[in-house]
Amino acid sequence: MARPVIAIVGRPNVGKSTIFNRVIGDRLAIVEDKPGVTRDRIYGTGEWNGKSFSIVDTGGIELDGEDEIMKSVRMQAELAVEEADVIIFMVDAKTGLTLADEEVAQMLFRSRKPVVVAVNKVDNQGRMEDIYEFFGLGFGSPIAISGSHGTGIGDLLDEAVSKLPELEEDGYDEDIIKVALIGRPNVGKSSLVNALLGEERVIVSDVAGTTRDAIDTPFEKDGQRYVLIDTAGMRKRGKVYESTEKYSVMRSLKAIERADVVLILINAEEGIIEQDKHIAGYAHEAGKASVFVVNKWDAVEKDDKTMQLFSQSIRDHFLFMTYAPIVFLSALTKSRLHKLLPVINHVSEQHALRIQTHLLNDVISDAVAINPPPTDKGRRLRINYVTQVAVRPPTIVIFVNAPEIMHFSYERYLENKIRAAFNFEGTPVRLFTRRKS
Ligand code: GDP
Ligand code: GDP
Repeated sequence: MARPVIAIVGRPNVGKSTIFNRVIGDRLAIVEDKPGVTRDRIYGTGEWNGKSFSIVDTGGIELDGEDEIMKSVRMQAELAVEEADVIIFMVDAKTGLTLADEEVAQMLFRSRKPVVVAVNKVDNQGRMEDIYEFFGLGFGSPIAISGSHGTGIGDLLDEAVSKLPELEEDGYDEDIIKVALIGRPNVGKSSLVNALLGEERVIVSDVAGTTRDAIDTPFEKDGQRYVLIDTAGMRKRGKVYESTEKYSVMRSLKAIERADVVLILINAEEGIIEQDKHIAGYAHEAGKASVFVVNKWDAVEKDDKTMQLFSQSIRDHFLFMTYAPIVFLSALTKSRLHKLLPVINHVSEQHALRIQTHLLNDVISDAVAINPPPTDKGRRLRINYVTQVAVRPPTIVIFVNAPEIMHFSYERYLENKIRAAFNFEGTPVRLFTRRKS
């Protein structure tokens, strides 16, 4: 199920990143901000009034040079229009309405996407009057907010979330594995798609999907059906825009949301770059199964240690994703290509794995016996029982006497024990601690 996307658009300095950080700020404390997950965030996930969404700060896209400001804003708006379900159009009460605002408004208006106008920097009651000129943008009542004071943000989210579509089902059968290929330009995404489709015994088939079938590519091999997500989008993507890193990262968000399994492509010739981490971090956070695919393996000079060294380098760079298997291949020569689909099948199974409660509790009892839970001011954490409440990704609730005593490090210890027992290769595992005495 794909979470809908909210995008924040607006001129530089209106306060987009300030608001973005406020929206995801609370979440980070609740969800997970594990070491290694990137700091330089342009996306996050949130929940408001019981609806989950992902939120994107398109302000991350900025071109150099003064004349480029308008171009940057245009790119942001274009991206938001293509990728977002609701757009927060942010303007600035201090500077008032500008020509650039009006130009963006026109682009957004033509898209017919739901738009909420947020007038930022309304830091005091006196500035309330400054919001009226923004009615003229034509998107209904603007919402006054202040990023500095944190006011109005609840109203803004009320409005934005009320315009979100229901969680999207794309109509594919449960047993179809949805695969997204993600990676920077020229890493070989299109080549890999073609190589997969050209493989022996691959049948490019028709699968009825209700909404997205035109842009996805279904195929079947050895009785297993797959859909490659957003392959049309991959072909369409402009290389010019893609050269700005954040743009291409954002282009991947929706595809990741819709996938079960994310293939994170890495260029063997170039090694790992920051952008790879952003993408991987998002797949992790979105709770998807992941596989690292090191492409262009043909182009690398190798000896018997090269593969191991490359693997180690991936492990060092992606500390938060040690669960993801690594496949080395060449989309060009098709060498080792046959290894990929079995790994996809495997991680997809692990992603949907459901462990019986009594088995889980056996593992936890053993773990607790070896290494007792933390204490705090004389109180000891007591684990009453553990149960898996969801799959894709596996989500496990730990019922305890006092959740506030649970440590991140102890949770990590339990996760390691659970993985040692049940593997869960290729998938994140979510642990939540809840009170139950
Ligand atoms: P972005 O370029 O649109 O992402 O804008 P930023 O979030 O980086 O903010 C630009 C500047 O505006 C920073 O100096 C912020 O501290 C300031 N700012 C953000 N929100 C407010 C606000 O509500 N009131 C005032 N007075 N300044 C703000
Ligand atoms: P995309 O931008 O990620 O879709 O990348 P493309 O599939 O368009 O590939 C970019 C370039 O890398 C093309 O020139 C491909 O021929 C080349 N390429 C793709 N896969 C491989 C590979 O496995 N080995 C080598 N040597 N080149 C490759």
